[in-house]
Amino acid sequence: MMPTYGRFNLVLENGEGCYVYDEEGHKYLDMGSGIAVNSLGHHHPVLTEALKNQVDKLIHISNYYYTKPQIEAAQLLVTYSSLDKVFFCNSGTEANEGAIKLARKYGKQKSPTKTQIISLKGGFHGRTLGALSATPKEQYQKGFKPLMPDFYYAQFNDIEDIKACINENTCAVILEVIQGEGGIILADEVYLKAVEKLCVQYDALLIIDEVQTGIGRTGSLFAYSQFGLQPDIVTTAKGLGAGLPIGVILCTDKANVFTPGNHGTTFGGNLLATTAASVVLKELCENGLMEHVQSVSKYLKDKLLKIQAKSEKIVEVRGMGLMIGIEINEPVKPLLEKCMAKGLLAIAAGEKVIRLLPPLIMTAKQVDEGIAILEELLI
Ligand SMILES: *Cc1c(COP(=O)(O)O)cnc(C)c1O
Repeated sequence: MMPTYGRFNLVLENGEGCYVYDEEGHKYLDMGSGIAVNSLGHHHPVLTEALKNQVDKLIHISNYYYTKPQIEAAQLLVTYSSLDKVFFCNSGTEANEGAIKLARKYGKQKSPTKTQIISLKGGFHGRTLGALSATPKEQYQKGFKPLMPDFYYAQFNDIEDIKACINENTCAVILEVIQGEGGIILADEVYLKAVEKLCVQYDALLIIDEVQTGIGRTGSLFAYSQFGLQPDIVTTAKGLGAGLPIGVILCTDKANVFTPGNHGTTFGGNLLATTAASVVLKELCENGLMEHVQSVSKYLKDKLLKIQAKSEKIVEVRGMGLMIGIEINEPVKPLLEKCMAKGLLAIAAGEKVIRLLPPLIMTAKQVDEGIAILEELLI
């Protein structure tokens, strides 16, 4: 395999609920969820059953035909969001690629020069060239230039800076309401509302990248609703398939400008991935999982704040729902290694932030187990 990842020295073999087991049977509490993916934990009975049933029927048939799992997942997304149309793809970066194309087409219909896209410093939108062009981080972009033209970068949470970038040739602004890879940094609500207003003023589409924040992670289906926003396009992926690869672009009727032949994907919306998506959406929006996320979030944050009060290592605890960052004043990687040795899996965001993204089903009792390990290492 190509040496693209800095991996932990661990081989994982199976999982049950919020625990995973290595090849020797050692048990780990999973507070990373495969990077916010395993929203229902591991081996979830409802998901496993639905997938097994679907495997026995049909796995893939392409987008030349209609399938019921795809229609059901699309309907659930439209019902529980403020957007009108969906396009299924296979990953977060691919959803953002599609959103960029959608915005470019929207702009071009207004004027041949309305092609500029603004993204925010510290943001992360993916590794493919379009999404990478919207990800202004030298570490990711270095070695791959030239990137796509007409991308501009504004300072996060700085309304004057985006005012200086936006103009009638701007077709879209893309941003995360909580920068995930960037270190769990929350956007300011007043700032976001001002950006939304600027987008309306210049007829630019507001694209909210909810690849990480979406699908219940922050305690609502999408985080944008907690900031009072009405985006034109929303992209999401990670938690939607609970482990099956799936991404989606949602848009309003206004931004629904693709016509047949404009965009497509062979695997997008395949029967297994969309079956998983429907299970996740129903658990969240119809079977009480969202309320569970809200209460466990509060429990986890309270516990972390108590540790912070006693700790000299913790700089800040921040985040929403079950997307929590613990900024520490030392490099995070060695600390995560120590967590692993004690049976806790967590991930990093940047150099100094421990990122907790537990399965949305995690119980308060399991939170206590994770907290006990963090407490040992942080006090
Ligand atoms: C992970 C992530 C992506 C990229 O998703 P992939 O599925 O890895 O391509 C894009 N945007 C945000 C906000 C993410 O967290």
